[in-house]
Amino acid sequence: MSGGVLGDDLEQTGRELPKVSYICGGCGREQKLDKDAVIRCMHCSHRIFYKRREKKLLQYLAR
Ligand SMILES: [Zn+2]
Repeated sequence: MSGGVLGDDLEQTGRELPKVSYICGGCGREQKLDKDAVIRCMHCSHRIFYKRREKKLLQYLAR
């Protein structure tokens, strides 16, 4: 299994968080996108995003 998954991960957005941070595959900028919003980079109009995994945030939420 290789690391960078494109596209498929976009459908698996978090149910609890209304917005998820994504890394643009074109320019590498981080953006927060709504689940229902059109996925497109506002900087370079790229449509492929990497889903960001925030391990620190998960630790912070866990009691
Ligand atoms: Zn971009």
